[in-house]
Amino acid sequence: MEYRKIGETKVSLLGFGCMRFPQGADGEIDLAQTDAMLTKAYEAGVNYFDTAYVYHNQKSEEIAASFLKKFPRDTYYFADKLPCWDASSVEKAKELLQTSLDRLGTDYIDFYLLHALNKDSWKNMKERGIVEWLEGVKASGVIRNYGFSFHDDYDTFIDIVNYRKWDFCQIQINYMDVDEQAGMKGYEECVKLGIPVVVMEPVKGGSLAMFPDDILAPLKAVNPDDSAARWALRWCGTLPGVSVILSGMSSMAQVDDNLETFKEFKPLSDTETKALDEHMANTRSRKFNNCTWCNYCMPCPAGVNIPRIFRLLNNFAMYANKGDVKWNYEHEIPDSQKPDKCVNCGKCVSHCPQHIAIPEDLKTAGANIKDIIASL
Ligand code: SF4
Ligand code: SF4
Repeated sequence: MEYRKIGETKVSLLGFGCMRFPQGADGEIDLAQTDAMLTKAYEAGVNYFDTAYVYHNQKSEEIAASFLKKFPRDTYYFADKLPCWDASSVEKAKELLQTSLDRLGTDYIDFYLLHALNKDSWKNMKERGIVEWLEGVKASGVIRNYGFSFHDDYDTFIDIVNYRKWDFCQIQINYMDVDEQAGMKGYEECVKLGIPVVVMEPVKGGSLAMFPDDILAPLKAVNPDDSAARWALRWCGTLPGVSVILSGMSSMAQVDDNLETFKEFKPLSDTETKALDEHMANTRSRKFNNCTWCNYCMPCPAGVNIPRIFRLLNNFAMYANKGDVKWNYEHEIPDSQKPDKCVNCGKCVSHCPQHIAIPEDLKTAGANIKDIIASL
């Protein structure tokens, strides 16, 4: 396992994201499989486990902790997050932190983040005294490293990242999203300031792992046996300022592939970088929009299944599989969730970390899907 540093702490470059545990057909988390995956990752050297108060309807912290507690507490690290949108005061933030500690069954959290900061929540966290309060919590030892995760524009990122000496920060970068949110410019600012970076969405919500072989041709020509996910993870790991790459693993096959990638980690060579550039150019010309299926825009009051509709179109842009669009649209998206149910209320737009013009894109998506089905 490849290890890097956050401060004096040696962390595994592969971090286990605890927001996409495997689920059964009934939507319940498959606990036996989750246990097996966490255990295998730990035994292979993964020591960074990233959860949050809100993941899996507030069940992630407790489930991750219940399976990790069989190992000595000082041999792995919890990253956990304060839901800033619920932290209306220091008193409330104290309650939220205590709940996380109780769920984790611990009296300290190794890496604690202000969750999903944006311009508004950052202003709130400062005005409510929560940024300063957490300084004291860190001094008390209840949190060991103090950071933030981020979803907004570059200027807001620069404002936050320069406000104090953060121990680390968590940003979204992957080879397709170099200009989104903090982007590569934000990453470079972290390097300049000496702030270790934790990468989220390295595989762009799974979409960089799902290319068909013809689209992967430039990559297969160089490394015929490597998965698409491996290329995405290696691109992130090639950046020297990156300390942890989070992967929200949801199957044992993903765990196995990731462990193989990080067992003897190799940065991308010049030849591999050139092949990836060609693949990126091909892919960029094919996507519908930047939706990562994060679900932050849901629920829509009119019932529209926004992520599912965008996923369908983005998959089509990459796979060009018309039958897949028809089947999914007719069987997986009920009429009550289709794009024409949008009443253009605008509620979803401010929740979208990708700043997608959702109502407009839904209109285009609806028309495109009808054209695709009609052409079959
Ligand atoms: S704009 Fe449309 S999709 Fe967005 S919340 Fe309103 S009705 Fe739903
Ligand atoms: S439209 Fe935006 S908020 Fe909604 S799932 Fe996609 S990326 Fe997330």
